[in-house]
Amino acid sequence: MNKALQYPFSAPPGPGSVTTIQPGVLWVRMTLPMKLDHINLYLLEDDAGWWIVDTGLRGEETRANWERVFAGHLGGKPVIGMFCTHCHPDHIGQAGWLSERWKAPLWMTHGEYYVGRVFSQTGAEGPFWEGMDFYRRAGAAPEFLENIRLRMSGFSGMVEPLPRSFHRVRGGDGFVIGGSRWEAVVGHGHSPEHLCLLNRERRLLISGDQVIPLITSNVSVMAIEPEGDPLADWLESHRRFLELPDDVLVLPAHNTPFYGLHARLRYLIAHHEDHLAALEEACVTPSTVRELLPVIFRRTLDAEQTTLALGECIAHMNFLLRAGRVRSEPDAGGVHRYTAPDPAVAARARTATHQRDDDPVMV
Ligand SMILES: [Zn+2]
Repeated sequence: MNKALQYPFSAPPGPGSVTTIQPGVLWVRMTLPMKLDHINLYLLEDDAGWWIVDTGLRGEETRANWERVFAGHLGGKPVIGMFCTHCHPDHIGQAGWLSERWKAPLWMTHGEYYVGRVFSQTGAEGPFWEGMDFYRRAGAAPEFLENIRLRMSGFSGMVEPLPRSFHRVRGGDGFVIGGSRWEAVVGHGHSPEHLCLLNRERRLLISGDQVIPLITSNVSVMAIEPEGDPLADWLESHRRFLELPDDVLVLPAHNTPFYGLHARLRYLIAHHEDHLAALEEACVTPSTVRELLPVIFRRTLDAEQTTLALGECIAHMNFLLRAGRVRSEPDAGGVHRYTAPDPAVAARARTATHQRDDDPVMV
């Protein structure tokens, strides 16, 4: 918990309702049928109509709530376009429906649109034997490996087919909406090319999952790219975001709007650096990824969360490997064990303490 953050809105808008952040900037909330039970979406008013930022999960309930918002809060104006911050299903799930409903174009970054198209295709199947190998190397439990097909099934069930065309957004692009300029700022690590929208004049930052006040966004290596280093991307993005103005009201996709961008970024950088140090110290005893999970996750993990937790732990180990801070060797069964070769780490491990904070949910 970061006490430096301030939350100017005491309660979120109810289903089908809106909260006015500023004139022409509305906050909408949709429910999610999972441990993380909500997503925040935003509406930006332009002269000719409204822009939607993120769309919610596929499903009748989300659509019905969108219709209530359209009927009650748009002042008779149409939806004229939409942005999706990134390719995860709670963000792109209704983009296809909304695009058809309003004949409105979708704006996304190149990386997010194409990854979203791949994972949301019906029958999109993950890499099975490669996936088996990936999780076996991590030392995953046999019952986890048995259900590997389930974990590799993509997210077509949660997403309406995406619009068949899109408009590309690049970092630095500007959009004048309602007389003020929104600037595209791109982050990496949680997803390939995550779009945030900064308005310097209004002092607002729509941050998606790139910066969330109370949830540490999942940074995972996935079986599709086993040697990926998304944590390096994540840390680089956070350091770069420290150059953005600190006095913006951050409008995140989860939790509630907050002030304290720089404090949150610094906290998240420190959080991952601390996890890296704790994992490195744990590797004084040669360890598998599965054995390392309790070093960074204290809570009991269900099957869904185990996939994210393994991915996140592997992200930290890949970072440490590339930095030369650990080595990895397969044992006779092909399970990798990580070792920290630096004797100074062993000395540090005897006395170091770590913050070991634990978020209740992962996103
Ligand atoms: Zn996400």
